[in-house]
Amino acid sequence: MNVILLGYPGSGKGTQAKVLSQKLGMFHVSTGDIFREELAKKTALGQEVAGYLNAGRLVPDRLVLDVLKARLGAETRGLLFDGFPRTVEQAEGLDSWFGSRGQAIDAVVFLNVPEAEVARRLGARRTCSGCGRIYNVISAPPGKEGVCDACGKGLVTRDDDKPAVIERRLQVYRDQTEPLLAYYRASGNFYEADGSLPPETVAEKLSSMLRRP
Ligand code: AMP
Repeated sequence: MNVILLGYPGSGKGTQAKVLSQKLGMFHVSTGDIFREELAKKTALGQEVAGYLNAGRLVPDRLVLDVLKARLGAETRGLLFDGFPRTVEQAEGLDSWFGSRGQAIDAVVFLNVPEAEVARRLGARRTCSGCGRIYNVISAPPGKEGVCDACGKGLVTRDDDKPAVIERRLQVYRDQTEPLLAYYRASGNFYEADGSLPPETVAEKLSSMLRRP
């Protein structure tokens, strides 16, 4: 089974994808995590995408697709996409790539959260510098301030979770990613979940949804 999680940055895609991929034995594919990893390792790709990430703009479609094809060529588990596709062009590229491999997208799940709520969440988001676990300093803080409960490493504010960049990312979502809702709504395997509910409740709903899409 291959699944796409859609939604605003801050709608809970990363948090849910981590839980679901474990529960359902799927491979979590976060293009944002891939780019941040390359950036941290200072690879050529990392340097190429740095400007886009830091400004809250999208990495060009062709580059995103090439990176994914290179990374996922040999993966046999079901894929759980988080943060991809981000444009209609990427969705079309994914369709033709999957078509050539005899694969399909089995479900597209839209995590619906009002924009004011995602803006609030992004401002309060902290990410573990070690394992990537996501916290919210207001609604889901760690046991010890600034320290990850899971691995003990320090928590950081992602550069693109800083106020100036948040507004740009929301704008980019409205302009370039929101049209994907219409694209996938027409596909017949589109599901919607209320992403403003507590994360555990959303996780329950999503796993029962995906166990029988
Ligand atoms: P995310 O962690 O998904 O919010 O992604 C962080 C940043 O990585 C985005 O603001 C973009 O700069 C870049 N990025 C991640 N996924 C994509 C994608 N599918 N297409 C273009 N850029 C992306």
